[in-house]
Amino acid sequence: MATHSITPLPVKTDVVIIGAGAAGLMCAIRAGQRSRRVLLLDHANKVGKKILMSGGGRCNFTNIYCEPDNFLSNNKNFCKSALSRYTSYDFIELVRKHNIPYHEKKLGQLFCDNKSKDILEMLLKECNQAGVDIHTHCTTEQIKSLENGFKIETSLGTTTCQSLVIATGGLSIPKMGATGFAYQTAKQFGLEVLPTRAGLVPFTLNQPILDILSQLSGSSTKVIVTCNSMSFSENLLFTHRGLSGPAMLQISSYWNQGDELTINLLPKIDLFKYLKDQKSERPKAELKTLLAVHMTKNIAQTLIQLWFAEKDYNDKQISQYSNQELQYISKQFHNWVVKPNGTEGYRTAEVTLGGINCNEISSKTMQANKQDNLYFIGEAIDVTGHLGGFNFQWAWASGAAASEFV
Ligand SMILES: Cc1cc2nc3c(=O)[nH]c(=O)nc-3n(C[C@H](O)[C@H](O)[C@H](O)COP(=O)(O)OP(=O)(O)OC[C@H]3O[C@@H](n4cnc5c(N)ncnc54)[C@H](O)[C@@H]3O)c2cc1C
Repeated sequence: MATHSITPLPVKTDVVIIGAGAAGLMCAIRAGQRSRRVLLLDHANKVGKKILMSGGGRCNFTNIYCEPDNFLSNNKNFCKSALSRYTSYDFIELVRKHNIPYHEKKLGQLFCDNKSKDILEMLLKECNQAGVDIHTHCTTEQIKSLENGFKIETSLGTTTCQSLVIATGGLSIPKMGATGFAYQTAKQFGLEVLPTRAGLVPFTLNQPILDILSQLSGSSTKVIVTCNSMSFSENLLFTHRGLSGPAMLQISSYWNQGDELTINLLPKIDLFKYLKDQKSERPKAELKTLLAVHMTKNIAQTLIQLWFAEKDYNDKQISQYSNQELQYISKQFHNWVVKPNGTEGYRTAEVTLGGINCNEISSKTMQANKQDNLYFIGEAIDVTGHLGGFNFQWAWASGAAASEFV
């Protein structure tokens, strides 16, 4: 993959974009295609690190069912304009133009057949063709507004530009180069920054319950999880720290410290009816054996141990249960109420919720209302997608939106 210049910056350019991630690369390509002279700066040693690590190494680059409802924001309407002007099909067209093989994994989620690197290489090829000048290892020290643009002092020298785009993302995964730079810059120019928290992140559990559930580390099962009136039907993965998997990552974006999760561990059946029927069909069968038809035996056994330790439910025959007992057991499997003690935080979160208040930015141009020629794009803004390619689609779409005006 191409390496990028850490040579001094040109003294003058049309557009400076700080942050060479998904949003910054897309904005740079399209502004370059409009014949704007574009300087793309990143403090990291490589561009697009999150693209490379995304989607388990296969980059879930978009979702064909992308709708505004797939996003959390203080202003639900804000994302509509950009998403409608640069759709998932626009990005798919680009992927096809570069002959990158891809497939739909599930629920409209498009992944590379090979590696995430295909997407980054595609974006870098496009940057190259559009004449974008990329500099890595470039730390911005100061931004000053001029009469018609900005003066930017960096570790690679000083440059001036007409338009400045901040595309430095959110706080997730500091090890990958995430910083609060966008929020600091927004505050410097008087824009409100809403409180941030980790999203799409695994939950951690308290010790007594974790002691038992950690036996299940690595096991997963299909559930419906509900919190604050939002539900997701996906897999739950038990981990040595708590609960993860797509269902938990999705609901984590709707969870606040202290909230309980309600988990239906057997969403496809009516457990009470099933167990009652089994009383006559397989009277000698044990509860765990009957449950093992619908989940792994290990999960069934461990949950029975967790909830009914004082009872003899792990070795009694089903015919020996009263209907009241079966109802009690069924309720527990269909409505497991669990209170996480927290999340794994920004260390492993896929996204940052909150950020620059959308009401401070034009949804059409991404320009700050209070500062001409200053633009914010991508995850830095208070727009956060669900799991499934929506966050990249927001990065592409917001980057493309700004590129028309910078
Ligand atoms: C492990 C993981 C997997 C993910 N998988 C997916 C997926 O499959 N599909 C999906 O849609 N989303 C996925 N996401 C979310 C997605 O990666 C982000 O939402 C998206 O990258 C945001 O794009 P962005 O351009 O706004 O920010 P980023 O991609 O984070 O880019 C920001 C850039 O700014 C640079 N930067 C930061 N601070 C500074 C500074 N002070 N000075 C200069 N440069 C700076 C960074 O080095 C980085 O290159 C995943 C996230 C993670 C962490």
